[in-house]
Parts: sequence; C-alpha cells; structure tokens
Amino acid sequence: MPADYHTHTPLCRHAEGEPEAYVDAALRAGVTEYGISDHAPQLPEPFDDWRMNDAEMPDYFNWMERARVHAGERLALRAGLECDWLPGCEPWIRQLAARHDWDYLIGSVHYLAEASQLPWDFDNPKWLGRWDTLDLDALWTNYWQAYIAMAESGLFDILGHPDLVKKFAYVPAGDLARFYEPVIDAVAASGCVIELNTAGWHKPCAECYPAPRFLELACSAGIPLVISSDAHEPKHLGRDFARAIAVARAAGYRETVLFNQRQRRMEAL
Ligand code: ZN
Ligand code: FE
Ligand code: FE
Ligand code: ZN
Repeated sequence: MPADYHTHTPLCRHAEGEPEAYVDAALRAGVTEYGISDHAPQLPEPFDDWRMNDAEMPDYFNWMERARVHAGERLALRAGLECDWLPGCEPWIRQLAARHDWDYLIGSVHYLAEASQLPWDFDNPKWLGRWDTLDLDALWTNYWQAYIAMAESGLFDILGHPDLVKKFAYVPAGDLARFYEPVIDAVAASGCVIELNTAGWHKPCAECYPAPRFLELACSAGIPLVISSDAHEPKHLGRDFARAIAVARAAGYRETVLFNQRQRRMEAL
C-alpha cells in the first residue's frame, strides 16, 4: 500500500480524531507511511473558518509528536502542510516552509479570485447557490491558470487534488483535454508530484481527483504520483486505495513517490 500523505487534524476545525486514532487507522489500512498535512495558517487572520491559526502551530507540532510517540517503530510518520495558493502568497509560503523540517508541502487551489470579486473558496458548500450563475468555461480557465502558476512557483512538493474545481459536478461541455493539456505541460516542466486524491469519489462529482483521462496524460508526460485520502477522520485514512491503485495502474503508473525531508524516492505500485 502506498503512503497516505494528505490527511488532516482537528486543528483545522472541520476534522475530528485523536492522533492515536489516526495512527491506529493507518496501521489497519496498511499504508507505507502516514503523513500529516493540515490546512496551513493564512494571513490576514481571521482568514476563514477552516484552518489553524498561526498561533496554533505549536499545537500542530505537539499533535504530530503525540502521533509519533504512539506509532513508535511501527509506522513512519511524515510532517507536511496543505498550503493555499493565493495571489501574492509566495513570501508567506516561504516563511511557512522555514518553520519546520517538513517532509513535504502540498499546494492546493481552493480559492479563486475573479475580476471584481474577492477570492472565494469555491469548494466550500456554502457557495453552492452561486454555481448555476457561473460561466463554467471562464471559471475552469481561471482555475487551471491558478494551478499552473502554483506549479511554476516551485514552492510545493505535491500539487493537491488537481481537478477539485469539478467537486460539485459543474463541468464545462466538450472535451476537457483542452483544459488538461496546458496544465500537464506546466506540471511536467515544474517537476512537481501530483496526487490521486480518493475523496472525490465521495463528493457530488463521484470521481477521483484528477479524472482518469488527466492521469493518463500526466503519466505519459512523466509526472510522478502519490495516492492520498484527504482524511478528515481516522476511518478515512487509506480509503479506496485499492481502487486508486487500479486507476493509477490503468493510467500507466507503476510507482509512487515517498518523501523524507523534501527528498524523494520511488516505491513500486
Ligand atoms: Zn479540509
Ligand atoms: Fe484541499
Ligand atoms: Fe485536505
Ligand atoms: Zn485537501
């Protein structure tokens, strides 16, 4: 079973479970390594209601230490963060990166800034009413432009849930490869790893992130892969990994990446 590097803690205010329970779940799921990557703080505070405050970073390190103690020799733990890609965020990401010996940083696009509008967290169910009024082609173009800029920043090891923009099943008409091709080129050139995030199977889109077609193109372009659950409770650790492995193999993948202190090695899939 691959490592599971995209998981959360209650510090983000919308996840639950004690560190010991996550470790036990990781052992039960049989993942190679358990990586913790909670939603990183974001300035100015309060930024939103789904992340730790900057002042809570010591609590995050304590939470990870509790997990490490409970795991002992039984399981390798890795320390990460899920950082938000926002316009002008680069100095803040560099600051966060310098705070700890992270094993990896995940970059995610959860916010879109359209002309004449404040950035909005498009994957938040509180905005569901807005989707019917949107130009989906323009929104998808905007999303993938942000994703490309995030890849090109070189600040992240892993790029999170590639096509999260499909979460609520609002997808433009026609062949989506027109959106995928430029981003595949940019990600391949950046050297970043993408994740196959299994949480999408449990959302209205009912499909893993990214779509199988995207994965095929990514594999052909030589983009490395990790498999992630995005667990917000212990029982979701390693969720659907067997199904994800089958999808990854069908797309051509034969290995996944392991991270330690932001260095990579490959593990057979
Ligand atoms: Zn979350
Ligand atoms: Fe996310
Ligand atoms: Fe997440
Ligand atoms: Zn996430």
